[in-house]
Amino acid sequence: MTSQIVAFADLDDTVFQTLRKLPGADSARLTPATVNTAGEPHSFMTPAQTALLDLLAAGNVTVIPVTGRDPAAFARVGLEFPSWRVLDHGLTILDAAGEPEQTWATRVRAELEPLQAELGRLTDWLRPQAAQAGARLTVHHAHDLPFMTVLKHPEASAEILADLQDAWTAALPAEAGLTVIANANNVSLLPAGLGKAAAVRYLRQTYFPQAALTLGLGDSVSDLGFMAECDFALTPTAGQLMRTLRSVTLPQR
Ligand SMILES: [Mg+2]
Repeated sequence: MTSQIVAFADLDDTVFQTLRKLPGADSARLTPATVNTAGEPHSFMTPAQTALLDLLAAGNVTVIPVTGRDPAAFARVGLEFPSWRVLDHGLTILDAAGEPEQTWATRVRAELEPLQAELGRLTDWLRPQAAQAGARLTVHHAHDLPFMTVLKHPEASAEILADLQDAWTAALPAEAGLTVIANANNVSLLPAGLGKAAAVRYLRQTYFPQAALTLGLGDSVSDLGFMAECDFALTPTAGQLMRTLRSVTLPQR
C-alpha cells in the first residue's frame, strides 16, 4: 500500500487567476481554467500552475479544492477534482459524488442559527454606506441559511473597499462570532469559527487520519488557518500572503 498524500488547495489566485492579475502574460502560454457566467474563458493557469497540478497528479496526490466559490461558481471551474470539495469558504463539504457531507452540514446549520441576527444587523448597517460608495452587498446562503455577506465594488477600488472594511470591522462586536476578511477583490463578513480551517481539520481527521503528508496551498491571509492544519504550506510568491510576510519587519533581538 502506498502512503497517501493530500493537498488542500485554494483555487482563485492560487491555482488560476483572471487576466487582470497577469499583466503582460503571453496568452498563448496560458491554459483556460474557468468560464464566466456567459460561458467565456475567465481565469487561466500559468505554465507554472499547470506544472504544479501535473506534479501533484503524477505523485497520485489527492487534490481537494478549498474555495470561497459557491456550487454555481465552482461549476464554472473546468478542472477535475475527483475527491472531496470544500466550497462556500468551508461551509459546504461535498463528497466525490457531489453530495453534501451530512455530519458537517448538520453542524454548520446548528452553528449558523445563532449568528443569523447579528449577520443580518451588520449587513443592514453597512448597506447605506456601501450604496453611497457605489459598492454592493450580496448575501450568500449555505444549507438554506444566510452565512456570508460579500461586499464588491464594480471597479474593485481598493481604497473604497478598504474604507468600508475598516468601518465594518469597527462595528463588529468581539463576541459576535463573525469576522471580516479581505480577498483579492471583495470583502466578506462570515462566521469566525466555521471557515476553511475548520472544514479542512474535519476532513483530515475524519477521512484522512492516516495521510502520510498533507499540503496546504493558498494565496491569501485568510487561507493561513487551513494551511496551518496541514504539514506543509505552499503559497504563490505574487500572492497576498507572501506580500504580507515580506512587509513584516521583525524587531531586532
Ligand atoms: Mg485565493
